[in-house]
Amino acid sequence: MVETKYIFVTGGVASSLGKGIIASSIGKLLQARGYNVTIQKFDPYINIDPGTLNPYEHGECYVTVDGHEADLDLGHYERFLGIETTKANNLTTGRIYKSVIDKERRGDYLGKTIQVIPHITDEIKRNVKLLGNSKYKFDFVITEIGGTVGDIESLPYLESIRQLKWELGRNALCVHLTYVPYLAAAGELKTKPTQHSVKELQSAGIQPDVIVLRAEHNLGESIRRKVAQFCNVNEQAVVQSIDAETIYEVPILMQEQGLDSIILEKVGLPVDKTPELGPWRKFLERRHAAQKKEAIHIALVGKYDLQDAYKSIREALSQAGTYNDRKVEVDFVNSEKLNAANVEQTLKGMAGVVIGPGFGERGIPGKFVAIEYTRTHDIPTFGICLGMQCMAIEFARDVLGYTDANSREMDEKTPHTVIDIMEEQKSITNMGGTMRLGAYECVLRKGSKACQAYGEEHICERHRHRYEFNNEYKEQYEAAGMKCVGINPESDLVEIVEIPTLRWFIGTQFHPEYSSTVLKPHPLFLSFVKAAIENEGNQGASQQVDKQQED
Ligand code: GLN
Repeated sequence: MVETKYIFVTGGVASSLGKGIIASSIGKLLQARGYNVTIQKFDPYINIDPGTLNPYEHGECYVTVDGHEADLDLGHYERFLGIETTKANNLTTGRIYKSVIDKERRGDYLGKTIQVIPHITDEIKRNVKLLGNSKYKFDFVITEIGGTVGDIESLPYLESIRQLKWELGRNALCVHLTYVPYLAAAGELKTKPTQHSVKELQSAGIQPDVIVLRAEHNLGESIRRKVAQFCNVNEQAVVQSIDAETIYEVPILMQEQGLDSIILEKVGLPVDKTPELGPWRKFLERRHAAQKKEAIHIALVGKYDLQDAYKSIREALSQAGTYNDRKVEVDFVNSEKLNAANVEQTLKGMAGVVIGPGFGERGIPGKFVAIEYTRTHDIPTFGICLGMQCMAIEFARDVLGYTDANSREMDEKTPHTVIDIMEEQKSITNMGGTMRLGAYECVLRKGSKACQAYGEEHICERHRHRYEFNNEYKEQYEAAGMKCVGINPESDLVEIVEIPTLRWFIGTQFHPEYSSTVLKPHPLFLSFVKAAIENEGNQGASQQVDKQQED
């Protein structure tokens, strides 16, 4: 056990440079050297958490095991490091202020004027150290600061880092990520934006210890030397991060430039061992081979036409592709545009279809159309959360004969609410953080496809929903062929439905995608992609399932 070291990752020049990937890569490399590492993120916005944000604003909302609605970067942390994060790993300005204001109301600061410095900065510092002093005994706490240096919102965070660097001395360092643009007309790479952003950091009293330069082109030694010279950083501590084929290459690319050694040296730890990256490299090799093969196409039916909106699902599918030795191409299908006239043409070539999670009525009819098509054409289908609820509704309408079946979320008055509001949700009026959130146990029916996929009967998966399968209809579903094969042992809630007579037709009320990691892909995604690959041979030839036989 070493004294906890703190690494702050800041960003300059532009947003979306991949601070989360750099933080995760540093974490991975330190972990590969045997250290116990965690990563936390501070988001400088005023929402308490991203739970109430539209995915268009901030991408997917990730959920931790302890039920915190979190920034999607926590997904990267978990996928890279194979660790579980918690509420303590993601804070926002809103939460920091709320905590300070709550304390003020309680009288904790009685007599004092509450100010950004020291009260807000102290609260930020407290939350950084809280992880370091936690029972997990982390050797390294990596703290990523969202946003870009120079933003008004970032100032209290920078001031906190300045103070912590001063207090912690050698046990703290700052890694600053910037961007080096290439001006095609001049044929030149430009370091000026980096110089300016480092100056900005310095004017906040922070000298970066390491600079990571994001670039589309190889930077060469002279650029790195120039940055080192202008920014008071040793040349070895200026590394480049150029576009990689996959984000999972980044730790290796960083290691090749000695980023982990530089960090260890700076915090005074020995650089004697070599990092154990064997399994990681094996994954990359397997992925590389898989990517060379012809891709199978998986449709992702949803309403948010944005890469980041279904980040964890995309990653889980891609990982499952690698472990099935095939490239998976995810084709987004906008459910708002899907209808009976175009469904065949849209989904025909798909080896499998994922019906995505979501909220609200927009795009729902398209999801029903997709499900009816895949169910009656026996195309492997994976419904996640709202996707599972849509599977149940579509089945009720088409097979059970309740043409007005719906979820209470979409239709308050329907007599057939096969998806209903949870009892404990009825009295809740606040929107933020009030859903059924976090990991819950689930017991699987022996012999079911889901149970075969997991290879075990007891599982635990993460939830984020307000509505649930209505148990009053359970027997009718069972009798008609949609089986409720995953049940919460405490509440008796249905967590998984499947139609066993079909190739692969499973819906989960939980979000399995959140727990699929690079070295431990999720069993349901593995089995779904496997089924999709097997189905591929039947493309075009897939016959409409005889409805009589199915009913
Ligand atoms: N809107 C649905 C519910 O609240 C599903 C949520 C989801 O897909 N995450 O139950």
